[in-house]
Amino acid sequence: MSAPGAENQPLRIAIVGAGPAAFYAADYLLKQSDLHVEIDMFDRLPTPFGLVRGGVAPDHQSIKNVTRVYHKTASRPGFRFFGNVRFGSDVTRADLQRHYHQIFYATGAQTDRSLGIPGEDLHGSHSATEFVAWYNGHPDYRHLEFDLSAKSVVVIGVGNVAVDVARILCRTPEELAATDIADHALERLRESQVREVHMLGRRGPVQAAFTPPEAKELGTLEDADAIVRPEEAALDPLSEEVLASAGRRIRRNVEIVQEISERSPSGKAKRLHIRFLVSPTEIIGGEAGRVSAIRVVHNELHASENGRLRPRATDRFETIPAGLVFRSVGYQGVPLTDVPFDEQWNVIPNEQGRVVDPATRKHVTGEYAGGWIKRGPSGVIGTNKADSVETAACMLEDVRNGVLLCPEAPSAEEAERMISSRRPDYFSYEDWMRLDELETARGQETGRPRVKFTSVDAMRKALEGAA
Ligand code: NAP
Repeated sequence: MSAPGAENQPLRIAIVGAGPAAFYAADYLLKQSDLHVEIDMFDRLPTPFGLVRGGVAPDHQSIKNVTRVYHKTASRPGFRFFGNVRFGSDVTRADLQRHYHQIFYATGAQTDRSLGIPGEDLHGSHSATEFVAWYNGHPDYRHLEFDLSAKSVVVIGVGNVAVDVARILCRTPEELAATDIADHALERLRESQVREVHMLGRRGPVQAAFTPPEAKELGTLEDADAIVRPEEAALDPLSEEVLASAGRRIRRNVEIVQEISERSPSGKAKRLHIRFLVSPTEIIGGEAGRVSAIRVVHNELHASENGRLRPRATDRFETIPAGLVFRSVGYQGVPLTDVPFDEQWNVIPNEQGRVVDPATRKHVTGEYAGGWIKRGPSGVIGTNKADSVETAACMLEDVRNGVLLCPEAPSAEEAERMISSRRPDYFSYEDWMRLDELETARGQETGRPRVKFTSVDAMRKALEGAA
């Protein structure tokens, strides 16, 4: 039998996950002119696009335009989407090995890192990722409750997720109402009593993880004054040294932070305090086990063995009153059933995307990883393009060398039969296109980009209604 890739024997690839990394890989693979490729993309949610739908902030609509590129990919012959299908239970690794020549895991980083400080489990202490998923209408998070009667909120971390959370808390109801924020979140945020938001960076402005456009936006909020303490914006000699040879992102970040530190608050309704050189040491409980404050220690920076500047606690402490705390110290990958996992780095162990068996250090034939589950939760959406292309190029090299799985039932029909037998209620890409139309139409009625369906049930009913 000839190698797969001919018209009568296509190369059949399963992609697990439907976020940016999945779509960039699919695009590259489907564009091969000398290979006939078919891709089945799976997602546990009925809707595609991963964090572009469930993570990108609702007031950053233009970033979501990237889905037009993914839609083009999905429109290529050979592409199918199976939404509402969970890897590990509805379909297993063994199922995919039975039906596909190659498997590409692009499941992202689905949980968050914890801090390991006392009080993290108190009522009112949440991960930023939960809040983000809630306001973006992720079906698994729609029932969460956040006590927005709190006047003061702390966001731990100064990465772009922390910035998103702080900004959403500072936006006016009118600003939010013009976005595709989930209706339940809009309702709650309309009643928000939040007046003070504190974002805590454990190092200085040179080490801040946010990017300049996001930092700049914090200084231009309609009804919130951004405040930076001059003494925290000032650089220590070690940071000055780093800055002298730093790239544009860091130099701009420092300029923006220092410019904000020179301003006086103009009396806007809310105040966003961007803090540096403070680490949380304890989340303090008050009445009924609810968060009432956070204790922080002031840090100084020192050069670690690898030359990076690290925070070191001083003996100066401070208590910041807060009724709500969001940890935003990074996402974290979770293991996939039966798939190798590196517990230390929370990624699938891999070499350039080829999955590696941790016991033998050999490549696992026919299995690959891309995006955050390959490299960890770093970079912006576009970073996934080069990352996925690197993996996809290895996949094609392996096909040329005949290194691929030997599925017993490789036809598209047999795969579809297996999926429908497990999940008769799967959502296809056509279903998504219909949902997309319906959401957009609902939005048009109220001048919003879209009004999201936020439960699987509502999505199913909407499709039935439309049919
Ligand atoms: P991140 O960029 O890695 O930032 C994590 C933040 O948490 C850093 O400030 C980090 O400080 C801090 N941190 C970590 N451990 C801590 C601890 N124990 N105590 C106090 N602070 C701690 O992660 P992220 O914000 O979750 O973002 C993930 C990725 O998505 C990033 O690449 C980000 O740029 C991207 N993203 C982009 C956008 C956008 O483009 N608009 C929006 C959202 C997310 P240290 O540096 O000191 O470790």
